[in-house]
Amino acid sequence: MQKIHNLSKNQKIIFDIIDKSGGPMKAYSILFNVQKKGIKAPLQVYRALDKLIEIGKIHKIESKNAFVACKNSNCEISNATAFSICEKCEKVTELNNPKLSKYLSNFEDNTGMSYRRYNLEFYGLCRRCDNKKAS
Ligand SMILES: [Zn+2]
Ligand SMILES: [Zn+2]
Repeated sequence: MQKIHNLSKNQKIIFDIIDKSGGPMKAYSILFNVQKKGIKAPLQVYRALDKLIEIGKIHKIESKNAFVACKNSNCEISNATAFSICEKCEKVTELNNPKLSKYLSNFEDNTGMSYRRYNLEFYGLCRRCDNKKAS
């Protein structure tokens, strides 16, 4: 079940835009689209984006400086995300792999640093692009 957060009007407008886009959206593209809905100040947009990230409704794809709507209904955390990114068509998929998250939640390296968050990006070819190459 989708968890219902009480979003402000701005947050809701921005979330809907990102959600409907179906893929990662750059900040300028979000700005452009929300302006049509009457939110003119970039600061308001950035503030709403920060909040949406914080509550796990959207995630930031760091390497692309873009935002995607969260596709895991149980993803209430913003500090542990993993995505697969197709190098060809740029399709971004949020990974929801219990094995991976379990491994990472116990992950320790030999420096003894304790990790609090991660944001992983796996690159490769999605199934569609991979098939095209083979045929
Ligand atoms: Zn998520
Ligand atoms: Zn692809």
